[in-house]
Amino acid sequence: MRPVPAEDGFAPLGLIPTLLQNVAAEGYTQPTPIQTATIPLLLARRDVVGCAQTGTGKTAAFALPVLQLMHSRPNEPKAPRKIRALVLSPTRELAAQIGASFQVYGKGLNLRHDVIFGGVGQGRQVDALRNGLDILVATTGRLLDLHQQGYVDLRHVEFFVLDEADRMLDMGFIHDIRRILPLLPKQRQSLLFSATMPPAIAELARSFLVDPAKVEVTPPATTVERIDQDVMFVEKSDKPKLLAHVLRNVPIEQVIVFSRTKHGANRLVKSLEQAGIESAAIHGNKSQNAREAALGAFRAGKLKVLVATDVASRGLDVDGVSHVINYDLPNEPESYVHRIGRTGRAGRSGKAISFCDREEIAYLLDIERLTGVELITDDEHPWHCEAAVPPPPGSPGRPSASQRPQHKPQGRPGGRPGGGGRPSGGGRPSGGRPSGGGRPGGGGRPGGGRSGGGR
Ligand code: AMP
Repeated sequence: MRPVPAEDGFAPLGLIPTLLQNVAAEGYTQPTPIQTATIPLLLARRDVVGCAQTGTGKTAAFALPVLQLMHSRPNEPKAPRKIRALVLSPTRELAAQIGASFQVYGKGLNLRHDVIFGGVGQGRQVDALRNGLDILVATTGRLLDLHQQGYVDLRHVEFFVLDEADRMLDMGFIHDIRRILPLLPKQRQSLLFSATMPPAIAELARSFLVDPAKVEVTPPATTVERIDQDVMFVEKSDKPKLLAHVLRNVPIEQVIVFSRTKHGANRLVKSLEQAGIESAAIHGNKSQNAREAALGAFRAGKLKVLVATDVASRGLDVDGVSHVINYDLPNEPESYVHRIGRTGRAGRSGKAISFCDREEIAYLLDIERLTGVELITDDEHPWHCEAAVPPPPGSPGRPSASQRPQHKPQGRPGGRPGGGGRPSGGGRPSGGRPSGGGRPGGGGRPGGGRSGGGR
């Protein structure tokens, strides 16, 4: 496929004027790489398997062509609407986000969409289904539930999208997917997106995609490169104090603080409250209303600190997130990549700070092995704990902030108007990295001030 030169924008991708207007109204001037690769394939009626994280613009990559193809073959005017596109998402938050994207991208096309997920009453969802939909975005459990009750007819689905398939697998939804697939017509166009491609996902893809085109535009390490990644070594018992210190001293626009457990997330909110710092938590034990209230405040920029577990944060897409703090390191290194992908959205840069206590050293090493990036030690805080620093295997030592390479400014692929939103600050000393350092490709973030550690 011909790569789209930067100055061409969306025009060469074959989208109809209404869709071009809608993306322009969103401020998108250039397609992201996944959009450049995927949109023409889908318009040419290919099945596609895409290896891409959230933050790469993958929702528009599938939503725009699906909308266009549906628009080109509308429902009969007087007949009730039939579900012709089904999008499955692992979480309610991501489902809601995808629904919002269809709303924005599909303006003026007379295609009706709705979102169904568990954890809320089914009444409104049943009404929407009864009124007729063209596009249904759903989580698997509620979809099967409503199907069993006879409210969902999937026999007319022409487009099937499985989003974040690896997370579906992690969350145990693979059986649901296997139950849903036979409910769909054989004749359809299918698409699978996944941030990683473990064998079980490759196998699943083989089972329902027909001769799929493979699109892999953003391997995790590339995304990770755009994000400034620090580690603070600390005793476990000092973590609450360190968190309050970082939140007070670092110029942060908005931050997501990750906790490994739901209880841990609740405890964090309490300890921050005692420190006079407002925050809210989202996790699976919170009611849908509480989650929506917290997310709504965070999205609107009224809440600066959101505490989240991995599952709850999945697909969370908030542009103002300048920082991600890993209060606990995840025990699966892939989760680290997902977590830090909440910042550095669509070509912007961001910063991730990970707290590592001595029991988490193995997790840190797993993460560095997966990403190929050695985190930069920030020891300029009052609780630095040397005992939590992994021993350097035959290297001159872990890179510290004073040895951080100076990054070159990088053009933002997405072309979103407005600045990158990074807090600027002065005076990161530059210098060569020790040769043992592992950041591939030399970074390439907009240069910026050091924002970690105690001043
Ligand atoms: P996604 O990967 O679909 O979650 O999208 C991540 C973010 O990128 C969302 O905030 C989108 O609004 C934004 N986005 C998608 N496509 C573009 C584009 N071509 N230019 C700028 N921003 C985009």
